[in-house]
Amino acid sequence: MQISTPPRLERLPELAYNLFWTWTPEARRLFTRLDPELWERTEHNPVRLLQETENLEAAAGDADFVDAYHLVMREFDEYLAGRDTWMGYAYPGLAGSTRVAYFSAEFGLHESLPIYSGGLGVLAGDHVKSASDLGVPLVGVGILYAQGFFRQRIDAEGNQREIYEPFDPEARPVRPARDPDGGKVLVSVEMPGRELYLKVWEVEVGRSAVLLLDADIPENSEEDRHLTARLYGGDTRTRIAQEIILGVGGVRALRACGLRPAVYHMNEGHAAFLGLERIREMVAAGEDFRDARRRVAESTVFTTHTPVPAGHDAFAPELFREFSSGWAEWLGTDRDGLWALGHKQEAWGPVFNMTVLAINLSRSRNAVSQIHRDVSHKMWYDLFLGDDHGEGRPITHVTNGVHTWSWLSAPMAELYDRYSGGRAWRNTVDDPTAWSFVAEIPPEELWETHRTTKEEMRGFVNERLRQQRERTGATAPVQEIDPEALTLGFARRFATYKRATLLLRDPERLREIAKSADRPVQFVFAGKAHPADSPGKEFIKALYHAAEEADLAGHLVILEDYDMDVTRRLVQGVDVWLNNPRRPLEASGTSGQKASLNGAPNFSVLDGWWPEAYNGRNGWTIGEDGEYASLEEQDAADARSFYETLEGSLVPLFYERTASGVPEGWVEVMKEAIATVAPKFSTQRMVRDYVHKLYVPRATGTERLGLSR
Ligand SMILES: *Cc1c(COP(=O)(O)O)cnc(C)c1O
Repeated sequence: MQISTPPRLERLPELAYNLFWTWTPEARRLFTRLDPELWERTEHNPVRLLQETENLEAAAGDADFVDAYHLVMREFDEYLAGRDTWMGYAYPGLAGSTRVAYFSAEFGLHESLPIYSGGLGVLAGDHVKSASDLGVPLVGVGILYAQGFFRQRIDAEGNQREIYEPFDPEARPVRPARDPDGGKVLVSVEMPGRELYLKVWEVEVGRSAVLLLDADIPENSEEDRHLTARLYGGDTRTRIAQEIILGVGGVRALRACGLRPAVYHMNEGHAAFLGLERIREMVAAGEDFRDARRRVAESTVFTTHTPVPAGHDAFAPELFREFSSGWAEWLGTDRDGLWALGHKQEAWGPVFNMTVLAINLSRSRNAVSQIHRDVSHKMWYDLFLGDDHGEGRPITHVTNGVHTWSWLSAPMAELYDRYSGGRAWRNTVDDPTAWSFVAEIPPEELWETHRTTKEEMRGFVNERLRQQRERTGATAPVQEIDPEALTLGFARRFATYKRATLLLRDPERLREIAKSADRPVQFVFAGKAHPADSPGKEFIKALYHAAEEADLAGHLVILEDYDMDVTRRLVQGVDVWLNNPRRPLEASGTSGQKASLNGAPNFSVLDGWWPEAYNGRNGWTIGEDGEYASLEEQDAADARSFYETLEGSLVPLFYERTASGVPEGWVEVMKEAIATVAPKFSTQRMVRDYVHKLYVPRATGTERLGLSR
């Protein structure tokens, strides 16, 4: 559908199609102001808003609105012009044309683009946004899932219901990608016995872009059109097809858009087929297999994201053979040579493992926290026996972070501006000294600002609970959360290792803590379980029933339809962020970083990023730093530790108030959390680390080999 805007506001569509608005409060405010009701109804999707609103003429006649519009457009133009970016002075030789291609099966950029399921996708989205902020010339490559990830309903029995809705790209902030001559981009990949055609879309993310591949076009058979319907949907046939689409189709999409990046980043093994396609290109140009393989590895970065075995895709020999027919020849090798690139011997037989492929076809590899690096070494040790790369450790680490501007609440950002003496600190958010102003914020002001965002969160949660109750037929007890109670948030995918129900191990003890008359505690949960994950769904059910069964109505609530909007509201509004995964399975985790940035300290098992951040004053830990004899023992000990610390440390500190009602001791922890976590665990720090440690070595390697343009 066309958008027609009055001449005085003619650049609004430009703004709507660049996700710059997602992290720019003034731009978001402009859209909200244009049509507040429709803004909510479209799930903060400015493209649909502009297509459907009837307020454009009135806005064009409103001098105030037009002024605000000009201010936003000026900021937008300055941002896009990108003068004085970090990349420009750190690596002037590498700034400029697109140097890095970042491949990921999911991108969490905004709730209006539901092509992500959880932390991996959101990290990819935050990576692209910070690359844009820093001027790192990077293009993302992913898939446009026609039905996105599912929407979640929780029925009256506490069962998760999955609803798939058509995505309709015409009404989203995506547009057809263009080739260098301005034409639309169509590429194809080989599937068993046929060609599969892919349309290429583009999302603008500040100065960066993400290309998205889409099989749902008339050129394909009905069945093939569904191949990109769902993220992590379907069986292993769908999965291998999606990974061919991402890896092989992705490289072809770059070429069709006229792009020859110097560095290829595989964000998780899902993307590893990109290496095969690049070898194929080189062999077609006259190279032999071994040289091509070496050159591809030389220019490739691989990031592994989980120690959970299910997170490492592997395909049975027959399936791989069926989908890779022709490939051995194109690569200038034989079937064994191709198979060896991904071969892994499992107890049940040989498989083609995508992490093995990624490791074999990359020269720089990283895990996403220190602990995760050590765990990854153990997991993949065999592959590095006799490794002569000479770089010392074959897997390094770059700890994850978050895009400050996508997660920091506007009231907090304004408070920070005020005490840092302007907006200059915003350019150096990854510099710990830039955050020294936090110590100067008067406790009552920080507390007041937090109360404002908590109140917004409370309104959102209670409204969601009301809607849920209305839909499920109102048999559930009426639930509302209390604005004064100590509020813990827990929102993430309901993978079993994350142990969402750990707090229910001793319901009586929990009840005693939560329902204290003068020092109540409440928990807000949200999260989706993968449709095939029955134990994860049982967690949702158990939490849903806790209100009645454990007599915790109003003290433990679970919201449906978890997405980036829900995350944002919770991390900005709760008092504490809870994370209790089974150690050492949380590779990094990032939601606690989002909360700390907003002054909600982390209360977590010492796993993932937390051991690198925890200093005894910026949050709390759960459980021991050591090993347990059994999972059962670990669960029991962690639960005990959780109750003890909550009761003995968090509750007393939170409820100890000055005469004016400010919990000064608590505010100290808030400040310490902000000042220590915000800089170090920003994607601004993270992307710079990627550039220094991984991209630059690979780009210079590439140059040495004469690979770049
Ligand atoms: C930040 C975020 C996550 C990360 O959750 P962790 O459990 O901390 O890894 C997951 N999902 C969404 C939607 C997020 O925004």
